[in-house]
Amino acid sequence: MKDLILLGSTGSIGRQTLDIIRNNPDKFNLVGMSCNSNIELLREQIEEFKPKVVAIAEENSARIIKSEFDNLDVLSTSRGLCELVKYPADIVLNALMGISGLKPTYEAIISGKDIALANKETLVTGGQIIVDAIKENRVNLFPIDSEHSAIFQCLKSSLNSKVKRIILTASGGPFRGYSLEDLKKVKLDEALNHPKWKMGKKISIDSATMMNKGLEVIEARWLFDIKEDNIEVHIHPESIIHSAVEFEDNSIIAQMGTPDMRIPISLALNYPDRLKLESEKLDLFEIGKLSFERPNRQVFRCLDIAYNALKEGSGATIAMNGANEELVNLFLNKKIQFIDIQENLEILMERESFESPKSIDDIMMIDKEARAIVREIIGKN
Ligand code: NDP
Ligand code: MG
Repeated sequence: MKDLILLGSTGSIGRQTLDIIRNNPDKFNLVGMSCNSNIELLREQIEEFKPKVVAIAEENSARIIKSEFDNLDVLSTSRGLCELVKYPADIVLNALMGISGLKPTYEAIISGKDIALANKETLVTGGQIIVDAIKENRVNLFPIDSEHSAIFQCLKSSLNSKVKRIILTASGGPFRGYSLEDLKKVKLDEALNHPKWKMGKKISIDSATMMNKGLEVIEARWLFDIKEDNIEVHIHPESIIHSAVEFEDNSIIAQMGTPDMRIPISLALNYPDRLKLESEKLDLFEIGKLSFERPNRQVFRCLDIAYNALKEGSGATIAMNGANEELVNLFLNKKIQFIDIQENLEILMERESFESPKSIDDIMMIDKEARAIVREIIGKN
């Protein structure tokens, strides 16, 4: 029986994680969970899973839940998440959105917990600091992002062999094949409508701009200690091969499956054993063909913005991530156009440079600074 703390239980990954726990009551015990403000759903989850503790970032919502449940510890504000991960447990699953996931991951590592990581922004911003903390505290980190779960599994096939290249697959998102002119006209609901995956809003927009793949290149760099020049993005619209690894004998090992996040979530929770899942089976006859294309980097500029940031250093990747989060939020609130996301990121990254951080606090400072600068750039345009 594994004791588990779930950060972001009301989100897309959070709800799919609860589905796995629900179907495996003999394997997982939910100690604690968290949300930002969606207490309608959190209330139902508390009643069903009866955790010891919850963290609710929004203070008023926390007060309401505290008044409703007697034997429940209720933590609040962003500090509440860092307290939550200190409760006794075997593993912390981080399904938070954006940089809000960074500090809780770090605190969980420091308190000796294994990490199941969906929150890619933790590694995009925390990079070396997170990798060092994992080593120092001798904990394990299991990736949930489907591509990184695939790579993790492929690497296990040839433990002592040199890796030549990682093939990071991407569906291409809702605007695959669009021109720059087409991108200027896209609407919010079209950008949120991903062809293969049903996800939270932020990652859906990142998938549409292809910044999601840029973030994943950076995530892979830290997870697998591999240089960016050896990570190659392949557009694979069927989303069946979740990624692949090429070894020095030119063998390529790939991992396949239906696009269902419960597969990587359950492996991260139950590693090294797989869990039985009542999900749709992959029918290769039905699929018939698998296809691959080069990404169109002239149209989807975020990919090169991310590669360049990685080359520049960790200050640049943190700034890029923070500015992107800010711009996506503005787009979700209909304050800017879709194309403004990549255009303003490009201006920011060409104009500014950012020093590498020495601590988590430095990272939060760079994040804040980049958000302020990108807002200023928008004001000027
Ligand atoms: P969602 O937006 O669906 O869920 C985010 C969760 O985090 C919710 O529980 C939300 O609470 C909570 N939350 C959001 N902001 C804050 C904050 N500032 N402080 C505290 N809690 C907060 O996101 P997803 O589940 O789609 O994604 C989660 C992470 O997993 C992201 O990093 C994403 O990139 C990654 N990922 C997701 C995939 C997917 O299929 N969804 C696939 C691969 C990776 P509330 O509901 O109250 O707002
Ligand atoms: Mg992914």
